[in-house]
Amino acid sequence: MIHEVLPVGMLQCNCSIFGDESTREAMVIDPGDEVESILDRIRLHGFTVKAIVITHAHIDHIGGAHKLKQATGAPVYMNLNDASLQKMLDFQATMLGMPPVENVAIDLPAKDGDTLVVGATEFHVMHTPGHTQGSICLWLPSEGKLVAGDTLFHESIGRTDLPGGNTQQILKSIHTKLLTLPGDTLVLPGHGDTTTIEHEKEHNPFL
Ligand SMILES: [Zn+2]
Repeated sequence: MIHEVLPVGMLQCNCSIFGDESTREAMVIDPGDEVESILDRIRLHGFTVKAIVITHAHIDHIGGAHKLKQATGAPVYMNLNDASLQKMLDFQATMLGMPPVENVAIDLPAKDGDTLVVGATEFHVMHTPGHTQGSICLWLPSEGKLVAGDTLFHESIGRTDLPGGNTQQILKSIHTKLLTLPGDTLVLPGHGDTTTIEHEKEHNPFL
């Protein structure tokens, strides 16, 4: 599977583009901003976007979803526990001093245990509340990768002091759902450097 990571927007959210080498079907995760750059990469690879997935409804992750949906016609997946947070996008923009964005209609709920398929690759949806109530991670067993949103970072965890945040909950999500994955799983956080499950078990001071 082809995989590109584009840090987008003021907060440099890691937008992932996954595409199947043979079917050219693709999934875009967290198109927070810079949709033209995302579309350039998609065109370059000759991809057809089959799904847009939002790991959680913070503006730096969902901000470009409306534009990308308009350009590709792909359905948007998000966990509906973040629906109330999604209604606060104007407030989030004001808080961050960003221009307002157009909100996107969610087409399909992303629920714990769901499996999304792109080409030959399965993406397992894991509901990991704590950073927000609707935070999800996507595990790709065949690729040995985890797209972690803002739940787990390189030697850190997602902040829980924003609306919908809960420290006990994020720790429980990480311990019960993420740290049980194979140690060599490559973790792609929503911001910053990649890491592995094994490295975080040994070196993450928050765990
Ligand atoms: Zn966030």
